[in-house]
Amino acid sequence: MGDFIIPAFLLAFSMLLTCACRQSAPVTQTAAAQSQASGPELSAEDYDPKPEMPPALKVNGQKAFQNLKDFVALVPRPLGSEGHARAEQFILAHLHGAQAEQDKFNVQTAAGPFPMNNIIAKFPGKKPGVIVLAGHYDTNLPLKNTSYVGANDGGSNVGLMLEIADQLRKHPPQGYSIWLLFTDGEEATVQWSDDDSLYGSKHLAKKWSEDGTAAKIKAFLLLDMIGDKDLDIDRDTNSTPWLLDVVYRAAQRAGQQSHFFVRSNTIQDDHLPFRAAGIPVADIIDIDYGFDNLYHHTTQDTPDKCSAASLQIAGDVVMETIRALNTH
Ligand SMILES: [Zn+2]
Repeated sequence: MGDFIIPAFLLAFSMLLTCACRQSAPVTQTAAAQSQASGPELSAEDYDPKPEMPPALKVNGQKAFQNLKDFVALVPRPLGSEGHARAEQFILAHLHGAQAEQDKFNVQTAAGPFPMNNIIAKFPGKKPGVIVLAGHYDTNLPLKNTSYVGANDGGSNVGLMLEIADQLRKHPPQGYSIWLLFTDGEEATVQWSDDDSLYGSKHLAKKWSEDGTAAKIKAFLLLDMIGDKDLDIDRDTNSTPWLLDVVYRAAQRAGQQSHFFVRSNTIQDDHLPFRAAGIPVADIIDIDYGFDNLYHHTTQDTPDKCSAASLQIAGDVVMETIRALNTH
């Protein structure tokens, strides 16, 4: 038996090493955040939609993929660059007709001061409460002088979120309001650490805590690296367990559970500042991009490694998750 224990441990350890910057030990929560985020009264089964409820909003994976390709054709979009300004304009132009807000601020990063801009599109619903769908749009500053475009890392979630925006414009939410949040400054400016990462989400989570917005948010669903042709969404141990269970049951109803939660990983991402603010969070991420995560944060992260089919799967499961969350 001992022979088996050691290789198993080494395998787990090597997996930790391979997954780079998005991994760390679980982040500690405040007691208040834990009790709010754990949702003790309800189990995931309680969120199963009733038969009489309308079906989930349909999204078009092909259109999401076209958005991805159009977005990353704008060249890299690191902080302070012309590409970043074009990326902001691209997102805002696609949000025409929606209630779009910009959360602009200046921040001192590890690489110096930069202006940042979180973009929020608000689609009002018919009952009090908000579901946030989020994902970052910046690319890594240290890769600014390369051909890196971040097709999957930043591009995939923007592509899907803009398609969801198009659908929400035609079919406004009948339950909770839905806010699409395009975060800035997710990536490290020098090297990933607690201090050098998640600049936009830290700024907005603080603002939403202070102005009372955080208390209105029922769930925060983060989309990251969801375009990988070989889609395997990780079960993130930093996310809120009951919300992950709701996502998994939604994946089962959508017939896509084989793409979800085969692996568990501990992910550092834009959901953490919102979790610390007491909001239930789920990071929907596939951190195994190419063999041994080879394409992640390299110039190989290009649209040909992504697919419309993967964006369709992620979109279908997210919209079914929103349908489930509207049962309460
Ligand atoms: Zn990244």
